[in-house]
Amino acid sequence: MSWPNGCMRRQEPLANHTSFRIGGPAEWFAEPSTQEELVALLREAARMGVPVSVVGGGTNTLAADRGVRGLVVRLGRGFQTLQELSAAEEPTVLVRCGAGLSTQRLVLLAARLGWGELEALAGLPGRIGGAVVMNAQEIGRWVQGIRLVSSDGTVSRWSRDQLRFHYRDAALAPGIVMDVLLRFPRVHPAEARERIQRALDYRNSTQDTRLPSAGCAFKNPPCLAGRQAGVGAGRLIDQAGLKGSRIGDAQVSFRHANFIVNLGHATCDDVLSLMEHIQRRVFQRFGMRLEPEVRFLGERWNR
Ligand SMILES: Cc1cc2nc3c(=O)[nH]c(=O)nc-3n(C[C@H](O)[C@H](O)[C@H](O)COP(=O)(O)OP(=O)(O)OC[C@H]3O[C@@H](n4cnc5c(N)ncnc54)[C@H](O)[C@@H]3O)c2cc1C
Repeated sequence: MSWPNGCMRRQEPLANHTSFRIGGPAEWFAEPSTQEELVALLREAARMGVPVSVVGGGTNTLAADRGVRGLVVRLGRGFQTLQELSAAEEPTVLVRCGAGLSTQRLVLLAARLGWGELEALAGLPGRIGGAVVMNAQEIGRWVQGIRLVSSDGTVSRWSRDQLRFHYRDAALAPGIVMDVLLRFPRVHPAEARERIQRALDYRNSTQDTRLPSAGCAFKNPPCLAGRQAGVGAGRLIDQAGLKGSRIGDAQVSFRHANFIVNLGHATCDDVLSLMEHIQRRVFQRFGMRLEPEVRFLGERWNR
């Protein structure tokens, strides 16, 4: 294999790259810093028939205990950019964000510069690319376009009218999102700051952020999906008496029933077994099948 120099590691533990702190080694792990590096990596992987996966902040990802075969890509420094494209006197702000940019970095700038509506993303962990792929907090409403590189290294642009966003999902062409164009209304910075602070206070009072997790384990069932993240599925899990249920070191949070937390040494198997237990109990009690919101990385998902 002739990988491009400098950005490649072997047997990199994915537990270091997921908020769950769970996951065995990636056979190959690369953090390309430029588009050229990324394209070269993908071309080499395609040439060698090496499967490619991508991880962003890893905050919605459950990685397999035995690791991941092939190449795992995590966008490096050169993809953590943010550029304002609009002029200060325009009523809306247009920004281009590298897909590796931390979502909270964007929120921080919004508070400082008066970019409106970003309170919806306040406290949301992870990166912009992951948020777009997950349509986290319905970020799709602000997306004007994306640039994506496909597995053979071809770069393409997709405009707003070619993209479809759904509840916790985006219908994107296969590939790695490299950057995203976002448009927000311009507001007074004091107003942006106040709204963001209020959203952070609310999040801190409702979510379990003290222990490692991947946020909500399950999507809200379709009839409840219009509601705020996690409320519907969380209530069903709570009413099924599952708060505090535990398998190994994976536990249903006492604070937010749709969060599964890692008490210290939880494995992917622990989390999956607990998720299956929750699905069974909720189905028995309410006849509703909960669908995972966390994305699985690795090879243990068809049991
Ligand atoms: C404490 C906590 C609270 C949370 N609260 C919320 C919440 O309120 N609302 C909400 O919606 N979510 C929430 N989440 C879930 C998660 O933070 C979001 O989904 C987040 O936007 C995921 O971003 P990420 O970069 O971590 O994605 P990752 O977990 O790294 O990836 C998610 C998916 O996107 C893919 N992906 C990532 N980057 C790229 C890329 N550049 N190109 C192509 N594919 C890519 C991955 O392969 C994976 O399939 C929470 C999570 C935690 C831990």
